[in-house]
Parts: sequence; structure tokens; C-alpha cells
Amino acid sequence: MSDETTTTEPVVTYDVRDGIAYVTLNRPEYANAQNSKVTYALDRAFTDAVDDDAVKVIVLGGNGKHFCGGHDIGTPGRDIHESFERKAVIWWDHVGAQGVDARFARESEVYLGMCRRWREIPKPVIAKVQGACVAGGLMLAWVCDFIIASDDAFFQDPVVKMGIPGVEYFAHPWVMNPRAAKEFLYTGGRFDARRAHELGMVNHVVPRPDLDAAVDEMARRIAAMPRLGLALTKKAINQAEDLMGQRAGMDSVFGLHHAAHSHNAEVTVDSLAGLDAAAMAESNKRDAGEL
Ligand code: ZN
Repeated sequence: MSDETTTTEPVVTYDVRDGIAYVTLNRPEYANAQNSKVTYALDRAFTDAVDDDAVKVIVLGGNGKHFCGGHDIGTPGRDIHESFERKAVIWWDHVGAQGVDARFARESEVYLGMCRRWREIPKPVIAKVQGACVAGGLMLAWVCDFIIASDDAFFQDPVVKMGIPGVEYFAHPWVMNPRAAKEFLYTGGRFDARRAHELGMVNHVVPRPDLDAAVDEMARRIAAMPRLGLALTKKAINQAEDLMGQRAGMDSVFGLHHAAHSHNAEVTVDSLAGLDAAAMAESNKRDAGEL
């Protein structure tokens, strides 16, 4: 297992080929867990892709077995107590603050704010998902315009186990129907790629060896369309989603989310109810019959 403090390996890689920008999470030894370093590396890559006239379509993927196992709640690269760039909202630094003062500042920026910023990227973004797409990983996939998944992909938001009503970017009732969203959250269990496809959360499911080619084929078809037409179409559909309540709904749920963090901090050992990455992974594997 490599130690990121002694390696220069980038946490996000960026390549452009044939008009397609490939933005790829690159912490495969930690299932591409997302820390703040990853967040701002993603943001730089997306910005480069928007600024490059040669780029027509962006593909967001994850290197290795899994797309993204979630926010970093336990790797050696976890950096929640460090300062970070602030790009999504104008708020004070969470470092040195306590309780809600710290959590609200941090999560408004790095979780909800950055996800909303990326949803508005004016070029099409396709999520290429294999393996785990869990919790914070869902947020990354959901801000993309749509998802193409391999047949080994699974989707899961287990944070209700922490007493928290879903991840910060609360798109659940919009990316699937509300009753499915309740089952998804109430059980905390995995929806496989086929189930996600049936529910409309995933556009296409392909065999794992065919995933790259399927995404490239779709990206090439979209790349042939005019840039402004795509940008305006994306905005039109995003506006429609917001008229269906997504933006206001997320704002209201963000308050519930922070009520849950605060409750945990008051009555348990920490804002995550003492469930670290190892405890969550063990619980999830037990539920999936892997332990
Ligand atoms: Zn949170």
C-alpha cells in the first residue's frame, strides 16, 4: 500500500484525447476515497476542461476496481482538519471553529457547494462507474449529466447507519423515484447496476470489459454536437430539475443533515456516531453477505 505522503502520484489524473477530457480519481488503494485534496484537484481538472476549446465532453472515472468508495473518513490522507481553497461559497475557514460553526462551513463548501458548482459545468460530463459508488461517490456520479455503469457496479448510501439522512448532496428523490429512495436509504443496502438502471439512475449498463469503449462511443456522439447548444440544453434540463424542487429540497435537507451531525456530536463520541471507515466498511460487507 503506497503512502501518499511520500509519493508524487497525482490524486486526480487528466488527459485529453480526441476532444474528450478524462478526469480520473487516482487513489485506487483507498477505493478513490475523496478528501479535500481530491476535491480541489477535480476542480482544477474540470476548469482546465472547460477552458480548453478542444474539449467537447468530459468523462469522470475512477482508477482501479472501484469508482469511488465515498468521502475520506479514515485513510492516512484524511484532511478534514486542514484548511482548503474556498471556491464554491464565501464563508470563513472551518479551521479553528467548533461544532456547527466548523461543520457547516466545511460541508457547505467542500460537499454541497462544490457538487453544485460541478453540476453547472457548461460541457457534458459523463460518469463512468465500475465497482463501488458509495455515499460521497454517489455525489460525484450524480453531478454528472448521466451515468454509464459496468455490470459489476453498485450504488449505496449507508449513512443512515450513522443516524444521518443521506449524503450532503441530497439528490436521491430526483435521481430515482421517492419510494425507491426510501428503500435505498432505509436499508443502506446496495442497488446493483441493473436495479439502478431500472430506476432511471443509470443510463446504460455494459459488461465490465466494454465500459471504456461504451463511454467513448457515447462521448464521441455527443462531441459532434455544437458547444453552445449542448451548454444551453444542459442548463435547460438542470433548471427543469430545480423547478421540480431539487435545489430547494437539498437546501432543506442540508439542515436536517446538520441536525443529525449535531445530535451525534451531543450524544455519541463524534458527529459520525463513532463510525469510522473500517466500521462502515465492515457493516456494509456484512449486509452484502461478504463477511
Ligand atoms: Zn455531513
